[in-house]
Amino acid sequence: MHTRRQVLRGGLGLFTLGSIGGLAKAGGGGQRCPFQGAGGAPRLQDAPLKSSRPLAATSFDPEPRIIEGFPVRSWFEGDDYNNGLDFPFHTSQNDFPGGEPPEPTETVDVVVAGGGLSGMTAAHLLRQYNPVVFEVNPRFGGNARGGVLHGAEYTLGSAYVIAPDPGSFLDSLYQDLGLPDVARVDDQPAPVEINGKINPDIWAGMGVPPEDIPAYEAYRQLVIRMAEDTYPDVPFANQWERDLDLLSFKQHIEQEVGLPIPVPLQAAIQAYCYSSFVAGWEEISATSGWNFLAAEEFGRWVFPGGNAWIADALWRKLRTLDQTDPDHAPHLRGGCPVVDVRVRPDGMVHVTWKNPDGEFRALLARRVILACPKHICRQIIHQLRERDEEKYETTYLQT
Ligand SMILES: Cc1cc2nc3c(=O)[nH]c(=O)nc-3n(C[C@H](O)[C@H](O)[C@H](O)COP(=O)(O)OP(=O)(O)OC[C@H]3O[C@@H](n4cnc5c(N)ncnc54)[C@H](O)[C@@H]3O)c2cc1C
Repeated sequence: MHTRRQVLRGGLGLFTLGSIGGLAKAGGGGQRCPFQGAGGAPRLQDAPLKSSRPLAATSFDPEPRIIEGFPVRSWFEGDDYNNGLDFPFHTSQNDFPGGEPPEPTETVDVVVAGGGLSGMTAAHLLRQYNPVVFEVNPRFGGNARGGVLHGAEYTLGSAYVIAPDPGSFLDSLYQDLGLPDVARVDDQPAPVEINGKINPDIWAGMGVPPEDIPAYEAYRQLVIRMAEDTYPDVPFANQWERDLDLLSFKQHIEQEVGLPIPVPLQAAIQAYCYSSFVAGWEEISATSGWNFLAAEEFGRWVFPGGNAWIADALWRKLRTLDQTDPDHAPHLRGGCPVVDVRVRPDGMVHVTWKNPDGEFRALLARRVILACPKHICRQIIHQLRERDEEKYETTYLQT
């Protein structure tokens, strides 16, 4: 298995918009179906499907579109945003009757609100406390959910992780989850599908107007320089890192590229920043931006179904809590939005959620981890606006 800096190279495959991972070479081996038989790990179709699994076949597509030999679903399978008015990840409903939450019927040590990678990782690390995890979506995984088409797993959101440093916390977590058995190191240019046509290496100029190529090339060189020569590493101890921190990511990129940034490249960087930081390139500092983005050049681990494989591995681990602590089963409560969190005078936290049948329920927890987006937290923390207006005002969703 390659590690981070061993695979340091100039490929800018990080913006694999609509990429079809099956075309990339597997570890340089050139297979067309890189995940078949990988490491002997259990394949999805071998395991019983459960409705709340992050990586699961939701329905069979009898007539997939075939693009260059690959079946592609003929319908959209992501979240339905209903003309921008209805955000399934971002709604909260603390409109319980009479304005008072129901009486708690359970007491647990730890509650996690949000069943994405953050929430499930936190629950896994705190598994000795038998945590209960609430997820508004029927399926766990958040932005790391996936699907299966004709036996091939694919991601609906995040696709890869940065290869961990040997001996680091992430290294041991990934080993614990069995990830090295199935990880494929993505060190090749990523093919990008645009309008039904596969562009094997968009960063070499394919699909880009000729006049824009110098700006793309300057950006490519800048990314390589930031990764190889001036990588800002946490905790940003050097003066040059602190100076860089005074610039926005946008300012630094524009300054160093020295050419107008083509609109598609701006959009790609912006999409990357929003999906990674929930903030734009004009909002985050250059130090933070490069710490995240340049690390992509240290090598990426890709899994069947992208990061949904990680979410699924966490989900499978957490499912076993129902055996170790049957009193509080199910520990993974899908389709159950947390709607209100309030600390009682005795220090216990009163947590209210809505069951899939619409009924409000409550429990007491010693500790609560809010692993849902910050603009949801501002709604469900009881009286946050009255008690801390500054925090309330700064945790909005930018649209
Ligand atoms: C399209 C896309 C591509 C990406 N690609 C990559 C990538 O390749 N590599 C990478 O490292 N990162 C990538 N990212 C970023 C990565 O997906 C996220 O950083 C990560 O998944 C965030 O995990 P999370 O658990 O913090 O948040 P989320 O995944 O947002 O999870 C939060 C969960 O909270 C739930 N929730 C919300 N409100 C409530 C409530 N009231 N009660 C209970 N549950 C609630 C939500 O339904 C959700 O499941 C990508 C992001 C996107 C959007």
